[in-house]
Amino acid sequence: MEIEIATIGGYEEVGRQMTAVRAGDDVVVFDMGLNLSQVLIHDNVETERMHSLDLIDMGAIPDDRVMSDLEGDVQAIVPTHGHLDHIGALSKLAHRYNAPIVASPFTLELVKDEIESEQKFGVENDLVEMEAGETMPIGERCELEFVHVTHSIIDAINPVLHTPEGAVVYGLDKRLDHDPVLEDPIDMKRFREIGREGEGVLAYIEDTTNAGRKGRTASESVARRELQDTIHSMEDYDGGIVATTFSSHVSRVSSIIEFAQEIGREPILLGRSMERYSGTAERMGRVNFPDNLGMFGHRKSVDRAFKRIMNEGKENFLPIVTGHQGEPRAMLTRMGRGETPYDIESGDKVIFSARVIPEPTNEGQRYQSEQLLRMQGARIYDDIHVSGHLREEGHYEMLNALQPQHVIPAHHDLEHFGKYAKLAKSEGYEIGRDLHLSDNGNIIQLVE
Ligand SMILES: [Zn+2]
Repeated sequence: MEIEIATIGGYEEVGRQMTAVRAGDDVVVFDMGLNLSQVLIHDNVETERMHSLDLIDMGAIPDDRVMSDLEGDVQAIVPTHGHLDHIGALSKLAHRYNAPIVASPFTLELVKDEIESEQKFGVENDLVEMEAGETMPIGERCELEFVHVTHSIIDAINPVLHTPEGAVVYGLDKRLDHDPVLEDPIDMKRFREIGREGEGVLAYIEDTTNAGRKGRTASESVARRELQDTIHSMEDYDGGIVATTFSSHVSRVSSIIEFAQEIGREPILLGRSMERYSGTAERMGRVNFPDNLGMFGHRKSVDRAFKRIMNEGKENFLPIVTGHQGEPRAMLTRMGRGETPYDIESGDKVIFSARVIPEPTNEGQRYQSEQLLRMQGARIYDDIHVSGHLREEGHYEMLNALQPQHVIPAHHDLEHFGKYAKLAKSEGYEIGRDLHLSDNGNIIQLVE
């Protein structure tokens, strides 16, 4: 059976991920993501109203025109988890394919939100929920399987397309976490089985975000312990404490909520995306938030919550807000600029449970946001965080578990692929033979 892999998006950047695998007459698409930095760089761009081709020209969504060179029918579109760089282009591209969108439950809820807020295209693809550990047939001879992985959002999976020539494992966005918060450890046992059963693994597409970084990525439980230590150290402080983190990182948000309560403060979630992700997780019964946890997204309700905090005393609350990257319109940045009713006073504590995404725009914005907070006397606690992506030892561990015939680095650019290529070469892979460095818009032929 002919097997081809089209590297469509996310092979020259982190963002707008999209990869397609053709096995005989059947094609499966993994991820359709948005490159948010290409959107934010323009003022006032409303992607909801924009046409796909304009967004492709901006570099914001994958250029999927290469799909017409794949001689097969798309049978499934599979977003691996709910981050925007993996689901953000579904509302712009999915309607062009007559295929269901297949995703894990939490991811599928977020996909529904994306589709509902779309104003240009009517996306009518069937939405199919599939849990980790489950499979579905693809055409007559292939099968799609979801393997549970751990990442900085719940319900992440690595999809595996089982073909008569071996398995194609799409390995994007995970760390090997054996003690995560809110969910099961990564299913390494299943990866080892897949590496050894049948024809083994034909190809592994690897997440190279942290390529070149030594050692292994720490567990979410490590970030949780550090947060616990930090927040408990503030127990006797009688002023304001504010925390920020990735809104989509529901495990992290739930840890902050728990520790706020432990030091006798009422946690409140503020900001549109805080309300969205945590609200979705709560409605689905995926988190155990305290009864009456305040979650406010709209400007007016947020300001009302801030006023209540100021009236009842800042020392009784711990607002958890958006703005960990210093995004200009996010809540923490507005607080820094003095645009909210919340007064930051000398000695108040601001916890960044996030690392700056190393990219000039983010670095500049985060610097500005921190400066604004500092000018009012705030104390900054930063980097209370672990990455969602594996480092070198994780890469070795995956190669060892899967023993793939071919390896394809993804989720970054050539510079990072080079770092990963060095590692893969030390395991016996050779560029051009079984180690494939690819740009956006290429097709790699694995089996003719
Ligand atoms: Zn991700």
